[in-house]
Amino acid sequence: MTTALICGISGQDGSYLAKLLLDRGYHVVGTSRDAQISSFRNLRRLGIRDRVAVESMSLTDFRSVIQVLTKIQPDEVYNLGGQSSVGLSFEQPVETLDSIATGTLNLLEAIRFLGGTIKLYNASSSECFGDTHGKPADETTPFRPRSPYAVAKSAAFWEVANYREAYGLFACSGILFNHESPLRPERFVTQKIVAAACRIAGGSGETLELGNMGVQRDWGWAPEYVEGMYRMLQQEQPDDYVLATGQTHALEDFVAAVFASLDLDWRDHVVTNAAFFRPTEIAIGRSDPSKAKRVMGWEARYAMPEVARMMTEAYRLPSTIGLTDG
Ligand code: NAP
Repeated sequence: MTTALICGISGQDGSYLAKLLLDRGYHVVGTSRDAQISSFRNLRRLGIRDRVAVESMSLTDFRSVIQVLTKIQPDEVYNLGGQSSVGLSFEQPVETLDSIATGTLNLLEAIRFLGGTIKLYNASSSECFGDTHGKPADETTPFRPRSPYAVAKSAAFWEVANYREAYGLFACSGILFNHESPLRPERFVTQKIVAAACRIAGGSGETLELGNMGVQRDWGWAPEYVEGMYRMLQQEQPDDYVLATGQTHALEDFVAAVFASLDLDWRDHVVTNAAFFRPTEIAIGRSDPSKAKRVMGWEARYAMPEVARMMTEAYRLPSTIGLTDG
């Protein structure tokens, strides 16, 4: 039986990936900074909490990393842990850099120390590209990070590339564009919009305040993206891949889609508040995910309109997409 260790299993991607690997017959172990107090609500919502073992591990503490790797002896490690919010990274730049760049380095060093046979998936991000001014970004596009989060993710990407080249590790980075689901917390703008719109539809009478609604992003469906992560580690050669839908939409379009699915006109309920603008922002995120399709046969089926609709449906009736209320 193949053993996978998912670092950051309590998050959106960690939970969906755990489900996918369990369905493929893996033994799945996940880590949380404190597995004793973490509720693992996402795993419970997916109905798989009892099927995964969990360990406490701090990515920034080398001793903790090597201890868990030695105990679990995984065949595959998925690095999905670390501070994951672009907005929060402006408030917590040191924590962001430590948890992402030092965290990834600790994993690479531990894998090298243990003989270098463990395969590693690293969660990189389209934020690394910065503003490509509407040009589709692929695996050859240079990084011009515009947030502490993107700086950290860029450093971690090059750590992975360097260990792959220098020590022959089977290590891959997935450069993922935004992917959403009902498991997103409300500090992410998509879920903030969905939650507020559903409350408004229920008669809350509130007004939704958002930052720059002109930003354009490529939004996909998270359960599909974890399949891409898994496929990267099943290839003959380790490599980096962009995962995205290839479609770009304005945030305003996402807002409109969510409100329209509730028979509401967003203009009656949404205002712009400059307090939510970021110090630096990416205006347009545009992707070229053709390599993932060509090499791994991976392709996103759902794009923004379906993502907005499915998140809204799931918020109102979690059971429609197989979620319990955790
Ligand atoms: P998430 O839901 O925020 O989960 C990340 C996990 O990392 C959390 O459950 C948490 O686990 C741990 N974590 C949070 N803050 C941390 C910190 N300061 N130090 C160490 N660990 C911390 O993230 P996700 O959406 O599943 O994304 C998974 C990975 O993909 C992340 O690395 C993210 O940056 C990256 N990514 C995501 C997207 C996207 O659109 N979702 C796009 C590109 C890249 P514990 O609290 O249990 O320790």
